[in-house]
Amino acid sequence: MRRKGYLFLFVFALLCVLSPFAHAHTADIHMNRRASVVLNEFPVDPSMFKEDVRPYVKKIIERHGLEEWKACLLTNEFHRHLGIYSIVGAKMGIRAREILEAPFDELKVISITGKSPPLSCMNDGLQAATGASLGRGAIEVLEQNPKVAAVFIYGNKKLTLEIKKDVLNRIKKDISTALKMYGGLNREYFAHIRELSINYWLELDRKKIFDETVRLKGKQK
Ligand SMILES: [Zn+2]
Repeated sequence: MRRKGYLFLFVFALLCVLSPFAHAHTADIHMNRRASVVLNEFPVDPSMFKEDVRPYVKKIIERHGLEEWKACLLTNEFHRHLGIYSIVGAKMGIRAREILEAPFDELKVISITGKSPPLSCMNDGLQAATGASLGRGAIEVLEQNPKVAAVFIYGNKKLTLEIKKDVLNRIKKDISTALKMYGGLNREYFAHIRELSINYWLELDRKKIFDETVRLKGKQK
């Protein structure tokens, strides 16, 4: 009897520990889960991460869910450095999937960032998060009047997400301060941006940082 009690406690404790990593994470409710192609699992064990990211792994997953986590991991590896706009792009793509409840292969994206960094860094996040990649021909990047915004099309819905002014101003200020501090796009600059990016990754709540407009396709603005 006693042994059974311990077993029950052990299983209960194990479930508590594992629940943030279960597939049905509360932050993922309105999203189709990303099924992986060659991986069995996306890494969630802090020991698999670089020292500066390690302490944030659990916090980020807890706060933003597994789907955003997967998108940000893919973005960071693909983008080749930890950047603020690339992470914003990943968060934006996830937010779009969430609002439209769109499956991966049917979402089309029109990015308005233009093709020059740092704004265009966002496009790597958008592609990783939505699966609408250049290779699949499902994303288009407009070059006129670049802004931190994109349009997402699914079925008869057209969703526009644009970063809120105050968030954008904060990012711009951080980047210009870093440029002044380090005198250009050098190693020290990118090390500092990396630090900032990890913070933004944890702090920015995708549900609060965008102006969100949904229209039915074909209707005028
Ligand atoms: Zn970048």
